[in-house]
Amino acid sequence: MEVRTIGVIGAGQMGSGIAQVAAAAGFDVIMNDIKDEFVARGVKTIDTSLGRLVKKEKLSVEDQKAILGRIKTSTRLEDMAGADFVVEAATENVALKLEIFRKLDAICRPGVVLSSNTSSISITKIAGATSRPELVIGMHFMNPVPMMALVEVIRGLATSDACHQLTLDLAVKMGKTPVPANDYPGFIANRILLPMINEAVYCVMEGVGQPADVDQVMKLGMNHPMGPLALADLIGLDTCLAILEVLHQGLGDSKYRPCPLLRKYVDQGWLGRKSGRGFYQY
Ligand code: NAD
Repeated sequence: MEVRTIGVIGAGQMGSGIAQVAAAAGFDVIMNDIKDEFVARGVKTIDTSLGRLVKKEKLSVEDQKAILGRIKTSTRLEDMAGADFVVEAATENVALKLEIFRKLDAICRPGVVLSSNTSSISITKIAGATSRPELVIGMHFMNPVPMMALVEVIRGLATSDACHQLTLDLAVKMGKTPVPANDYPGFIANRILLPMINEAVYCVMEGVGQPADVDQVMKLGMNHPMGPLALADLIGLDTCLAILEVLHQGLGDSKYRPCPLLRKYVDQGWLGRKSGRGFYQY
């Protein structure tokens, strides 16, 4: 099936970024969220992001308008009947994603690939909620989507070769570099990244270092462009906790247990940049 219209579920930081790069690559986009205000916030994020490119003279005002013009907004999942390929980027919650995929399976035309941007949830499990497991795949973009080259493409147990190739090709058309991974908790990126972030939170909890010092050590000592705690704030502490829970449960090894301090921050609603406070104030 030729992909012209990409459906994006969730207009948060990832969904809005995915909608932006898809529209910038010339695709029509339907960007969906549960409330008008969330969709409007997503459009504003895209407008601001494109505005920065205009300021840097990397994009013309006409192109900014054209990209925004290719993005239709929606608060009804039924609108995904018009999509040729779907990228789901809703909140990282297993029950929620299973429900969305069950509904998408009924709404989307036969042959349409249903992909998930999940950071850690089993693609095979998500595929099991549908009657088209061969057309379910992980398409894991990195944050911030317009800046980051990588897309991890994750095959579930039943994902077909055709679906895999279509998704790899689509990532390239969206200006990204796809890397294949298999379906184990956290895939490649978060299997490695999240234990590091978790250990940084333990360092803060045990008083080994203040957040700024932990980050400074990793920046100056390991040449990381960003410290693990600043990165955790960018990812969202709720998302970090959700990924660690999946690693802990899915791999059954206590080395992945989420740090109690991370749990406290999430309970308090200190979710990082998106809530104005995490390990740093914004
Ligand atoms: P976010 O909280 O910024 O956005 C999630 C959005 O999903 C919200 O706007 C919410 O209203 C919406 N949503 C919830 N239920 C919905 C439903 N039933 N239908 C439609 N929309 C719904 O979160 P995010 O950081 O954009 O993460 C989204 C997904 O991307 C998660 O699966 C996450 O694991 C994954 N991801 C996140 C990052 C990151 O750095 N934050 C990186 C890669 C992948």
